[in-house]
Amino acid sequence: MTTPTFEKHFSSLENFGHSLRASSFVFKPKCEEEISSLFEIARKSGLTVTARGAGKSYNDASLNGGGIVLDLSQMNRITEWDPQTGRVTGEPGVTIQQLWQQTEPDGWWPPVVSGTMFTTLGGCLAANVHGKNNFQVGPIGEHVVQFTALLPTGARVTCSPGKNADLFHSMISGLGMLGVFTSITLQMKRIHSGLLEVSARPSRDLREHLSDMLENAPSSDYIVGWVDSMVSGRGLGRGQIHAARYLDEAEDPRAKQTMLLQNQVLPPRIMGVFPKSILYLFMRPFANNLGWGLVNAAKYATSLRRHTFRQSHAAFHFLLDYVPNFERAYGRGGLIEYQSFLPKETAEDAWRELIQLSVKCGLPSYLGVTKRHRPDAFLLTHAVDGFSLAMDFKVTDGNRAKLGAMLQDFDRIVLEAGGRFYFAKNSETTRETALRFLGEETVAEFKKLKKRCDPNGLLESDLYRRVFA
Ligand SMILES: Cc1cc2nc3c(=O)[nH]c(=O)nc-3n(C[C@H](O)[C@H](O)[C@H](O)COP(=O)(O)OP(=O)(O)OC[C@H]3O[C@@H](n4cnc5c(N)ncnc54)[C@H](O)[C@@H]3O)c2cc1C
Repeated sequence: MTTPTFEKHFSSLENFGHSLRASSFVFKPKCEEEISSLFEIARKSGLTVTARGAGKSYNDASLNGGGIVLDLSQMNRITEWDPQTGRVTGEPGVTIQQLWQQTEPDGWWPPVVSGTMFTTLGGCLAANVHGKNNFQVGPIGEHVVQFTALLPTGARVTCSPGKNADLFHSMISGLGMLGVFTSITLQMKRIHSGLLEVSARPSRDLREHLSDMLENAPSSDYIVGWVDSMVSGRGLGRGQIHAARYLDEAEDPRAKQTMLLQNQVLPPRIMGVFPKSILYLFMRPFANNLGWGLVNAAKYATSLRRHTFRQSHAAFHFLLDYVPNFERAYGRGGLIEYQSFLPKETAEDAWRELIQLSVKCGLPSYLGVTKRHRPDAFLLTHAVDGFSLAMDFKVTDGNRAKLGAMLQDFDRIVLEAGGRFYFAKNSETTRETALRFLGEETVAEFKKLKKRCDPNGLLESDLYRRVFA
């Protein structure tokens, strides 16, 4: 057995939004054997272990205060790629960016991507991420052909929808609490152009916004909305919708060129001059209620024109990567995201309440993003037949407690409306809330599997202790 590289003795790690931190022993294994020996070290030293991909979760999912963090970013090789079938196999630290850059020139795109390309395959499976096409194709787990994982018992399991199906449906969505993915095979999506056709249109209020999504999702491949979540009176929920569709074979005569990587890059400068890498510094003075209110009003005013245009896959999917380190614009306290998933019948009223409450508390969300969803069969699923609204909140030393209390009120409203929450985003979900939306049976099933895969309780994260311990 190889001795793992003890890269750093004790270091402080953060969530994506820099609003939470925890000190841990960080190991960076390079192969499966090193993970095995790390489990051994953990067992002997009585420490718990959390896997970490790129650390892009908005909350404490990949933090483990006082324990071991298994940083898998160096296990990042694409081990097999078949451009005939579109099947790709990779180590858990392969990023979505590596994936599409490998496959797009051959005419394949990842079936589901997060809003940033810097997440890893392991992290995406553990959270079972959804894309702007969730209502059409489900979460990433539905496109996994098979995976191999190492359990803390030392056992190596291979799972697919037909083999070890219970583990397949629980390790995907299981937040790394049952085992560590070591190899993942995905089925990619055939594309016939490097461009999507995107239709942009305004919505005057929340009712119009959600009706548009409901009505137009079936004829779109992707749909996503922006909501000005700082307006609580007339025009509450005003915003903009972007719906996109793939191009057919005949629609892009330059398909071979548009799929080349040089036609998919996000430009590093604005209008060819201003470097985007420092843009977040210029956004900082606006990261307050007045400044962001003005930004949102200006954004709404410029989104009133209905239009259709063609955009590269990378530009459409990874809008949030346009401004590197945008989360740093929120200042020292960072940001958190609150994403609630509501049935289509109750979403409008519940979100009206959430937005009104946040504005009344003086803690409005600066960014609101909506998506259309459908349910899935994974154990810790967050999806519903309805919509999600992700709301970004600035955190400061002064508002942290008040924000936490307001989000507990949010949870009550969402639960009463039959909603669910996402473990990769929300930082405030309590044990009681999780029990209510998941149901006792699901939590009991998860704990039973946990006992089977991890009898000594080696795998724990700050999130696990908050929600399940
Ligand atoms: C800008 C931005 C946009 C986003 N957009 C979306 C979106 O559109 N849709 C969406 O669903 N999510 C979205 N997310 C959330 C993000 O996709 C998830 O949090 C994802 O899990 C992060 O991947 P990661 O590699 O950074 O994992 P980490 O944050 O490092 O870890 C996430 C979880 O995965 C576990 N884990 C990591 N690697 C392994 C492994 N090899 N084996 C077992 N468990 C493992 C960790 O223990 C942890 O529980 C977004 C995040 C950001 C920052």
